[in-house]
Amino acid sequence: MLAVLNEVQQEVTPLLGQGTVAQYIPELAKVDPNQFAMAVTLTNGESFGVGSFEKPFSIQSISKVFSYTLALRYYQDDLFKRVWREPSGDPFNSLVQLEYEDGIPRNPFINAGAIVVCDSLISHFADPKKALHDIMIFIRECCDDHSIAVNHTVAESEMQCGFRNLALANLMKGFGNIDNDIDQVLQTYFQQCSADMNVSQLSRSMLYLANDGVDPISGKTFISEAQAKRINSIMLTCGHYDASGDFAFRVGLPGKSGVGGGIVAIVPGEMSIAVYSPALNNNGNSLVGTKALELFTSKTGISIF
Ligand code: GLN
Repeated sequence: MLAVLNEVQQEVTPLLGQGTVAQYIPELAKVDPNQFAMAVTLTNGESFGVGSFEKPFSIQSISKVFSYTLALRYYQDDLFKRVWREPSGDPFNSLVQLEYEDGIPRNPFINAGAIVVCDSLISHFADPKKALHDIMIFIRECCDDHSIAVNHTVAESEMQCGFRNLALANLMKGFGNIDNDIDQVLQTYFQQCSADMNVSQLSRSMLYLANDGVDPISGKTFISEAQAKRINSIMLTCGHYDASGDFAFRVGLPGKSGVGGGIVAIVPGEMSIAVYSPALNNNGNSLVGTKALELFTSKTGISIF
């Protein structure tokens, strides 16, 4: 496994320098684009890493997998009344569909959907602080590492410049699909997105999705088998926004990206893979990260197809 990861790293290294780090979040715009890390954690607990695999970065939209897992746990099918599970075919921060689809986001992985999920968690706890606490506790439980924390500088930076998210939340509130105070919902959303993790922690944390909802190492059940299947399906069809089809075509695995430059991918029954390289392609997904996953599945023959 380590040999494959080394080979992948060698082949993507010449590509570093392509793409652009996220510009609309000032703290992320400062990040060195020429970084690469990749880690694999097998369901038996063995793990492998290359590059800067211990260096934390902003997980951004990858956090939407954790928050959605919790919301599905609390609301089950009722959640689908407020957020669908169809690909949007639009950028992650687009407003257009929301207007003609009555404020119901297409899926939980575009920003609008994740903001609704966040709102549902705040309602569940009747308290934004408790909702954030629950998300963070869950992330820590998933990777069995209590050091995971919110990077408040990044969260604050997003709060200052998150104009499109403010517009999305207001539009949905106008349609009656946000129940709580908009500032509180966005604060919570920006903070969950600003959790810092490294690729080793990320790949470890998603093992429950590779094992029917049960963490194979601790034996803890996080979600039902049916719900794990659904999350993986939505990751495959919506995890990369308007490039989800391309990611499925190239990589052949359920995956979720974040504008911090991270991507996680799930191999059901076998492993979870995380990759980091902060320069993004035009769809806001890690350019080198996507290529690395494509090489990994091509070289190993591992994919769900
Ligand atoms: N926090 C980011 C935002 O709301 C998450 C987007 C992403 O990672 N694609 O814009």
